[in-house]
Amino acid sequence: MVAAVSDSPQAVGTALLIAAHPDDPEFGAGGTVARWAREGWRVVYVLCTRGEQGTHDVAADPRAVARLREREQRAAAAVLGVAEVVFLDYPDGLLEPTLGLRRDLTREIRRFAPLRVICPSPVRVLESAYLRRNHPDHMAVGAAALAAIYPTASSPHLFPELLAEGFAPCIVPEVYVGETGSPDIVVDIGDTLELKLAALREHASQLRDGTLERVRDSSRQLGALHGLAAAEAFRLIVQT
Ligand SMILES: [Zn+2]
Repeated sequence: MVAAVSDSPQAVGTALLIAAHPDDPEFGAGGTVARWAREGWRVVYVLCTRGEQGTHDVAADPRAVARLREREQRAAAAVLGVAEVVFLDYPDGLLEPTLGLRRDLTREIRRFAPLRVICPSPVRVLESAYLRRNHPDHMAVGAAALAAIYPTASSPHLFPELLAEGFAPCIVPEVYVGETGSPDIVVDIGDTLELKLAALREHASQLRDGTLERVRDSSRQLGALHGLAAAEAFRLIVQT
């Protein structure tokens, strides 16, 4: 893998993390979120669903699962120093990159005017050993988020109702695309790996035996490739 280690920021502002389900932020970028929060970034999560399908219990009430997972997500975000968590309430497992989802994500991007966005990749990674990484909701969110970032967030006459609601156009300078098979940047999470694992422990309903050990090992293995104690990888897109 060809990848550079990300630099320390020149300026800090708001960083928006867009994801499909509770626990996606921590699995994909928990160490990065904790690092940025420590550096002074105001990190905000936008979760497209409440994760009500995150159960194998046929007797479970999806509404109760949603409430549990929202609580778990808010607790995990608090561990990492996240400032705010927004839920859009789309149905878990059925996400599509619709114009409606793009409009709703555009609204949040314009609301927070982030200098950085983290979102999942819209591209299926067939080489991945984990189908979870190819969850169709993740790819749908990736497609909708990237379309919201460009061209919609910066185009005043797309979704004119947003302008009427008071959400002015904005440009997102940096986009960190996660869950990609072709990363080109890694973030040093050597100092925040334990916080990432602590945040993941808050998602108790979703953990299996060995989950945290697997995350710890893969983070360290990725870091070792770059002379770091631990790392997370992204594809970085810079907009001017
Ligand atoms: Zn997910």
